[in-house]
Amino acid sequence: MYDFSNHCFVCGLEVDSDSSRKHKQFNLPVCDDCFGTDREKLAVSNLLEGMADGFVCGCI
Ligand SMILES: [Zn+2]
Repeated sequence: MYDFSNHCFVCGLEVDSDSSRKHKQFNLPVCDDCFGTDREKLAVSNLLEGMADGFVCGCI
């Protein structure tokens, strides 16, 4: 798991955390190549799924 604070959360490219664009909902850096693309939306939904998994009881 790499450091999300200075990598694009979509493609993993290293970005400058001060000057890079940020995804509003997660406040995570997104590089110019990924910003506003379908790949970004996919990465967001993957993140949401991952978070949901963390909240779901594993007893089902
Ligand atoms: Zn990217």
